[in-house]
Amino acid sequence: MGTSISGIRGDRLSSADYEKNFSDLHPPLDRHQALVAADRCYFCYDAPCMTACPTSIDIPMFIRQISTGNAVGAAKTIFDQNILGGMCARVCPTETLCEQACVRNTAEDRPVEIGLLQRHATDTAMEKNIQFYPRPERTRHRIAVVGAGPAGLACAHRLAMNGHDVIIFDARVKPGGLNEYGIATYKTTDDFAQREVDYVLAIGGIEIRNGQKLGRDFTLGELAENFDAVFLGIGLAGVNALRIEGEQLSGVEDAVDFIAALRQVEDKADIAIGRRVVVIGGGMTAIDAAVQAKLLGAEEVTICYRRGKEDMNASEFEQELATSKGVMIRHWLQPKRVIGKDGKVAGIEVEYTEMQDGKLQGTGETGILAADQIFKAIGQTFDPTCVPNLRLDGGRIAVDAEGKTSMARVWAGGDCVKAGEDLTVTSVAQGRDAADSINRALAAAANPAVAVA
Ligand SMILES: Cc1cc2nc3c(=O)[nH]c(=O)nc-3n(C[C@H](O)[C@H](O)[C@H](O)COP(=O)(O)OP(=O)(O)OC[C@H]3O[C@@H](n4cnc5c(N)ncnc54)[C@H](O)[C@@H]3O)c2cc1C
Ligand code: SF4
Repeated sequence: MGTSISGIRGDRLSSADYEKNFSDLHPPLDRHQALVAADRCYFCYDAPCMTACPTSIDIPMFIRQISTGNAVGAAKTIFDQNILGGMCARVCPTETLCEQACVRNTAEDRPVEIGLLQRHATDTAMEKNIQFYPRPERTRHRIAVVGAGPAGLACAHRLAMNGHDVIIFDARVKPGGLNEYGIATYKTTDDFAQREVDYVLAIGGIEIRNGQKLGRDFTLGELAENFDAVFLGIGLAGVNALRIEGEQLSGVEDAVDFIAALRQVEDKADIAIGRRVVVIGGGMTAIDAAVQAKLLGAEEVTICYRRGKEDMNASEFEQELATSKGVMIRHWLQPKRVIGKDGKVAGIEVEYTEMQDGKLQGTGETGILAADQIFKAIGQTFDPTCVPNLRLDGGRIAVDAEGKTSMARVWAGGDCVKAGEDLTVTSVAQGRDAADSINRALAAAANPAVAVA
């Protein structure tokens, strides 16, 4: 341990190295590889893989379709449940979901490559721009969706499938939510997030208005008054602070902002990265920031997590990915103070931690890690200021089992509600299910006799 002189700069690598480092983490299967992979499925009658999928995709069915050469039919099976099945195939932590549950996931064998097979099917259909859902006759119901992330897009598509007109309002300049601004570059390598938005919108009946922020440009009350229903898929706009001395120093950055900048930049050489980078946190964001810092040419990247390996939110696969790229993960360390020199980060003082009587405590033993850049990845928070009248639960929007909020005709889903894991696939499931609930509510309101029956 020691201190370092600031060495944050871009252009650390050759353009060939940037290209190699940020290539596809899991390259797609070709047709022959897909047939071989599909052949390994037992087509289990009780399909535990399907139960483990938050969107309940009929996995044995789509794998069977691939094995008979019908990748387009497989794509329809996937999209029927999950219209963002293409992105989910790239970003789902399959090792903790379907592939973990696969009966072939044993010590002697390995799971069926469900994620890669899903990508093969969805890419095949999307490359040919095959649309499976003709727009039915318009109902003339208008629904406002706030947030064009996975939850909002899935909700809007299902509503359009039912003939409703949808307007999506989003604060940012591009739609896609964290699919566009959060997912690691090596998980979605090209402009796939925008191509997927275009694919979803091709159904018709959905208009996106970017640069429109709830709470600034309009209120929830106005939406509820002017639309037949409202869906909120506004994610987590806030970030947790370290709340330690030196946090304001130049070189202390939010990991989510760093990842977003990397996703948006034309030339990776424009992203400034330190020589010695420390990432504070233990989740997916911490891993993604650390791995990408290494891929950008940082010499030393260390993740500090205040608990043990088994407590990390990042899956074992992700932890192994990080260490395989040269990231050092150190457990039982919490930040105490950022050390500065000439207004810039020079290191971070950390304290060892331990569990005492079931509580995490500092041991008093400290040390200094040299660093010229520190990324905070200690979690995002829901910012309730744009929805002042809604009931919250655990700091997020409170919803019932159908996604209904405490306000009449307002539903919510995705990261902004307290239900399920904060994952792309969970958000898609909640957006889709809220749309079904909205659809039922509109049908019941239009035909009360049916509702009573
Ligand atoms: C760095 C990072 C990496 C991740 N990697 C993965 C991964 O590999 N795999 C995975 O499954 N999950 C991953 N996740 C989690 C996943 O991205 C989220 O669970 C998912 O995107 C949540 O979808 P959402 O639609 O609820 O919210 P978001 O994707 O956050 O979208 C919310 C949208 O609402 C808009 N919005 C917010 N406030 C307002 C407002 N007031 N008015 C109007 N619009 C507003 C935002 O601009 C945004 O477009 C990652 C998350 C992060 C932060
Ligand atoms: S559990 Fe595995 S083998 Fe069984 S249906 Fe699912 S993917 Fe196929």
